[in-house]
Order: sequence, then structure tokens, then C-alpha cells
Amino acid sequence: MEFVFTPPASVAVPVAGSTQYFPVRRIFCVGRNYAEHAREMGADAQADGREPPFFFSKPVDALVSGLGPLVVVYPLATTNLHHEVEMVVALAAGGERLTVDAAGKAIFGCAVGLDLTRRDLQAAAKAKGHPWDMGKGFDQSVVCGPLQPIAQCAALDQGRIWLSLGGQLRQQGDLAQMTWSVTEVISQLSMLVALAPGDLILTGTPAGVGPLLPGDVLTAGVAGLPELQVEIQPRPL
Ligand code: MN
Repeated sequence: MEFVFTPPASVAVPVAGSTQYFPVRRIFCVGRNYAEHAREMGADAQADGREPPFFFSKPVDALVSGLGPLVVVYPLATTNLHHEVEMVVALAAGGERLTVDAAGKAIFGCAVGLDLTRRDLQAAAKAKGHPWDMGKGFDQSVVCGPLQPIAQCAALDQGRIWLSLGGQLRQQGDLAQMTWSVTEVISQLSMLVALAPGDLILTGTPAGVGPLLPGDVLTAGVAGLPELQVEIQPRPL
């Protein structure tokens, strides 16, 4: 095939304990999957009954990944960049209308990730009923640490998830607090789109989201997964 210019390089996430990389196809995120975070964002989290999960996407080329400490340049057009630590699940199989059981079998592995958010732009979009894309899907808006193959992952539905900034704990929760479990999230998403190998899904953030500043260094983790370290560099003038 003759292209009019060189196609973009493929986007991939390293596999922990291996020389292999996981090729990324699409990136999906689930909103408000921890009740306490939904409340801190002003949503009316229901004590009884679960609101169906809702989803949004980030461009594949917004992904920052690799081995060792990672770097994100403070993004354009915001004065309120927020951290959201999330567990990422990567799919090695797909399909539509997956059962929860089939969803579990589609998982390649898990990683620690960040759903970086321009909270000011997101809030303005919410207020006007506009799409969230520019609040959520900007350049370098998703960070993903090395993927741990599923056979080496601890339980998907329990374990500490946390983020610290400059040595201070900012976010802390437990995967058990998810409104929709990892396999339920995958199953529900497959009711909306046909999932495929290479898809990444960010599974929601616990309470404690807050601002990042140029120069910040954050560390984030999920029990049993490789830790993530990210430096926020100032944007060159
Ligand atoms: Mn999020």
C-alpha cells in the first residue's frame, strides 16, 4: 500500500517481566465508578440500585507509556489539570454482548494508569451539555504503566489503589469499592461496541482527585501491579 505520508508509529504498552509489547487499538474510560468520587464530583450517587456505567474515549496517540519513570508535559489550555489513578485492563480478545464470564476470559492483563483531566474544561462542558472530549481526550491525557499478564495479577476486584504526590497520599481506595466490577465494565461496554484485542479500559478512580502542577512528581499503585511514577514537566514557552 502506498501512503501519502509515513503512517504514525504504532502505540504500545510494555509487558512486565517480558521484552514484549502490547499493541493498543482503542482506549475507553468508565465514568464515576467509585461512589465516593462520584459524590466529590457533585453527582448524586445512589445508595440503592446502580446507575448504568457510562463511557468515554481517549485518542490512542494520547497514550504515554513505557518502562521506568514517565514524563507528561503540562497540557495546553488548562489551569486545573487533575490526576485520576485508575486500574487499566487490556484485552487480548473481544466480541460484542460478552457475558461477565466471557469478559473475564478476554483480559490480557492489568496496569496502573492515569486518566488525566483538564477539570476546568470538563466542568465548562458539563455546564453547557457539551461533549467532554477536550476535557478528557487531549494530548498525553492517558498514562499506562507496564501490563501485568492476568495469570500474575492478584484478584481484580479487591486490593488497594492509591496515588501520592510529593510524598503525600492524595487518593486511596480499594478495587472492591467499584460500583461496576472490572468484568461487568467490560461486559457493559461490549453492549455498546464490539471489543477487540488491543483495547484498553480505564476502570474509574477512587476519591481524592486534585490538581497537578508543573514540577510535580507523582507515584501511583494498585496492589500487586508495577508502580507508576510520573513527572509533570513545565510546557516550554
Ligand atoms: Mn476517570
